[in-house]
Amino acid sequence: MKIAAGSTLIRNGQMVDGTGAAAAPDAAVLVTDGRIAYAGPAAGCPVVEGVSVIDACGGTILPGLVEAHYHPTYFNVAALEDLDIKYPVEYVTLLAAANARLALECGYTAARSGGSLFNIDVWLKRAIENDVTVGPRLAASGREICGAGGLMDWNPDFRKIGMEGLILLVNGPGEARAAVRKLVKDGVEWVKTYPTGDAAAPDTNDHHTLCMSFEEMEAVVTTAHNHRLKVTGHCRATEGIKNALRAGYDAVEHATFIDDEGLELLLQRDVPVVPALQFEWASVEYGKEWGMSQRVIDGHKETLEGGAESARRILKAGGRIGMGGDYGFAWNPHGDYAKELTFFVKYVGFGVLDVLRCATKVGAEIMGRGGEIGTLETGKVADVLVVDGDVVRDVSVLEDRRRIVAVMQGGVVKAGRVAR
Ligand SMILES: [Zn+2]
Repeated sequence: MKIAAGSTLIRNGQMVDGTGAAAAPDAAVLVTDGRIAYAGPAAGCPVVEGVSVIDACGGTILPGLVEAHYHPTYFNVAALEDLDIKYPVEYVTLLAAANARLALECGYTAARSGGSLFNIDVWLKRAIENDVTVGPRLAASGREICGAGGLMDWNPDFRKIGMEGLILLVNGPGEARAAVRKLVKDGVEWVKTYPTGDAAAPDTNDHHTLCMSFEEMEAVVTTAHNHRLKVTGHCRATEGIKNALRAGYDAVEHATFIDDEGLELLLQRDVPVVPALQFEWASVEYGKEWGMSQRVIDGHKETLEGGAESARRILKAGGRIGMGGDYGFAWNPHGDYAKELTFFVKYVGFGVLDVLRCATKVGAEIMGRGGEIGTLETGKVADVLVVDGDVVRDVSVLEDRRRIVAVMQGGVVKAGRVAR
């Protein structure tokens, strides 16, 4: 990805640096050759000749946001068929590129994929890195791994519909190993698995059901770690969360019904969690319109309440939480990413500075790039977001794209008012 040459000064705004520290009023951020040369009170900022200036309009300067559970290849999915048989790989690839551009325009300068159709993420990442197209710096996942008969194995065999674009179905540790080896060759960074079911499948794979055996999960982790890949999983059921942690998972998605023992295991290795909760609220709120049965909606309600309680417990215990939202469903569309942040403040009860830390610093750490991006600190790559509004007072300002002054990656302004 190109980096800027020369210096840019961002001034006339408060700064939230992403570490969780209080906002610094009247701050300045100086970017030189794509890196942060200064971030702090305007009064202490070095004077540079011939610098270009971005006026923050009395708003907020913060690190670019990190979407920690992103599905660029999901395209406002309304039914299961949308995920496997509706479109060919060619069209899904174009949709993914459009979604990536949208995420950047929304202030998301980095994202970790939560699973990809086909092997699109890997190539989307390459296209972004090579400036072929624009989007968040991406941590790529691939096809997701699920036990046969589990949540993602929804087409009856008589239909003879393969799921090779969406999922690698496994029976036993041998097949789990083979699936990971295929992903190693594909070039993914994260292996996404389905240890548990979900409220979406109340008959055979609900949110308290396990969809992979411990032996399968352990085989996934051993194989992935051998090739320096990381492993995460869709974990709702209490036992599934503990299986993932005991098997050595590097992250847990959702961690919906975590118990004391699970929390203990989580904290032992400081494993990050991405709850993705606004999705559950949206499912409860808009599910009827999209044909969800009352049973499914009730399941989402239980998931929402359980997930909110678990997130509060994890944060309070000092665990790490990333902000990512499974955007890409019809009732939870791309472009709404920042709703997750508002939701965590208003519904879950997190403080704004905590939420912003989760959405920047922790997100970068989950990607394995915490030393490079995620905070506004001297020496870091200049991925910066400037918004016209007081984000600390009202975090929902981030939902409004018209308020975005600048979205910067490596010091280059890629989106926002000043890019136009
Ligand atoms: Zn997901």
